[in-house]
Amino acid sequence: MGHAGSHTCDVIFDNVKVPASALIGGEEGKGFYTSMKVLDRGRLHIAAVSVGVAERLLDDALRYAMERQQFGKPIAEHQLIQAMLADSKAECYAAKCMVLDAARKRDEGENISTEASCCKMFATEMVGRVADRAVQIHGGSGYIVDYGVERFYRDVRLFRLYEGTTQIQQMVIAKNMVRDAS
Ligand SMILES: Cc1cc2nc3c(=O)[nH]c(=O)nc-3n(C[C@H](O)[C@H](O)[C@H](O)COP(=O)(O)OP(=O)(O)OC[C@H]3O[C@@H](n4cnc5c(N)ncnc54)[C@H](O)[C@@H]3O)c2cc1C
Repeated sequence: MGHAGSHTCDVIFDNVKVPASALIGGEEGKGFYTSMKVLDRGRLHIAAVSVGVAERLLDDALRYAMERQQFGKPIAEHQLIQAMLADSKAECYAAKCMVLDAARKRDEGENISTEASCCKMFATEMVGRVADRAVQIHGGSGYIVDYGVERFYRDVRLFRLYEGTTQIQQMVIAKNMVRDAS
């Protein structure tokens, strides 16, 4: 569907021998825990990427809305277009604040499993909505290749899938909440 710039294929491990020196985490029984810590960082990364793409899409949508004239004025002056711009701006700002807060906590050595999943879930769902509105603001031009918006619309769809789907993030967040409250 998207991400044409990166090659995607299956990686198959068949009867592979891994030496003890390559044990993940360096200690037997800790591999899964170590892998999960790597995921926290990756999830924060995808959330940050989502914020960056959303900011780009919003810039493009705003510029187009100020240039494109319909019914005698720029479409940016029509209130229903303004609503889409405002919703996107607020959601993007919220996601950015979340990412910065979680990144700061991680830098201070805190366990950010819950925060990383919250960021990944919210920011990737957010950029999906922002991309959808950016296509809408561009009208038919948003659907055709020339304006580049449709590419982002396709590309951001992956963010809700890899590095743990939205459903997996929901499970992580809720499980951590129940564990912390027990
Ligand atoms: C372009 C691309 C690049 C990728 N790159 C990488 C990569 O670099 N490294 C890598 O490791 N992987 C990569 N992946 C794989 C990606 O991480 C997985 O596709 C993703 O984690 C979802 O797993 P799945 O496809 O097996 O879906 P499934 O696990 O089969 O999920 C299907 C649906 O069921 C839901 N679901 C699954 N389990 C549960 C549950 N317990 N409760 C509720 N709902 C559930 C999911 O949320 C989803 O909606 C890539 C995938 C794509 C498409």
